[in-house]
Amino acid sequence: MDFDNTSRTELSELGEFGLIKHLTQYIELTNDSTVKGVGDDAAVIDNGDLQTVVSTDMLVEGVHFDLTYVPLKHLGYKSVVVNLSDIYAMNAQPRQIVVSIAISNRFSLEAVEELYAGMLLACKKYKVDLVGGDTTSSLSGLVISVTAIGAAKKEDIVYRDGAKEGNLLCVSGDLGGAYMGLQILEREKTIFKENPKLQPDLGGKDYILERQLKPEARKDIGELLKSLNVKPTSMIDVSDGLSSEILHLCTQSKVGVELYEEKLPIDPLTFETAREFNLDPTLCALSGGEDYELLFTIDIGDYDKIKNSMDISVIGHITNESKGRLMVAKAGTAHELKAQGWNALLK
Ligand code: ADP
Ligand code: MG
Repeated sequence: MDFDNTSRTELSELGEFGLIKHLTQYIELTNDSTVKGVGDDAAVIDNGDLQTVVSTDMLVEGVHFDLTYVPLKHLGYKSVVVNLSDIYAMNAQPRQIVVSIAISNRFSLEAVEELYAGMLLACKKYKVDLVGGDTTSSLSGLVISVTAIGAAKKEDIVYRDGAKEGNLLCVSGDLGGAYMGLQILEREKTIFKENPKLQPDLGGKDYILERQLKPEARKDIGELLKSLNVKPTSMIDVSDGLSSEILHLCTQSKVGVELYEEKLPIDPLTFETAREFNLDPTLCALSGGEDYELLFTIDIGDYDKIKNSMDISVIGHITNESKGRLMVAKAGTAHELKAQGWNALLK
């Protein structure tokens, strides 16, 4: 099947997810060993005993990071962690990464060493091996591409499409912190630009700054669920924002959802900082993104097993597709859940 290339269409008309769907619509899988292609947090390849799980992400200077306030060591760490998060979202164990970088002559050896020190720190922490990559030059800043490879038993892998009516919707940790950390960094950058003599005021904001600059992947949640004998019916990691990820789970599982605003886990510092910025903390939790928490559904019969886990919040339940995707606000009114992204937060 060929694309119709006779007219010009702007990429903005499709958006990121529309573009991926468009580009991948004619892919035909020809190898029996390809268990899962495009469409989940990672691809799944059958290797007999174990299945291999592969995920890749690219970080582009000026789009995904700003080196005026992100130390290179942190950037290296984060670029690895965000990939491992996708492997954990499949309920698999990451084992190897390959790293490709494009660098301009603006960077010194020492700078690239810092980047690698961060990457290797993440490798050590999560027990993965850096096994290869590619290095090339760039005319416009730094580009980092990391591919993570993991493994799991076939029966352990959790996809995005397994949520069933009546399941509970759960999320690990808390939400919106990374976004508020970014707001602090952006504010201090603006102040610094206007008056370079002023020192940045980051006091008391450690937790949310860390959420932005040095996020961790939730390796522990898969282990916790395993120890409680709970296998999620579906799972995804929260990279773009909670509402966007909930909609992915619903679309792929062909189900509806009822999310409860009052159940959203928001750290007090995130809440307070959102208020300081005149932002709605709920909107920050729903649309902020980069939390790298795990969003998953479980059978209602497993509720007793997880109910005492401080790090897991039940935030809603799965309904029939015909009921739609709703958020029940604190006032009791139901609203359609939308993937608003960061722009909505700034309006
Ligand atoms: P995530 O946020 O979990 O990293 P994405 O939203 O980036 O996932 O991607 C969704 C799915 O689309 C994944 O299965 C990914 O591998 C696939 N994908 C993304 N970009 C492309 C592309 N250019 N070509 C083929 N597949 C892609
Ligand atoms: Mg993901």
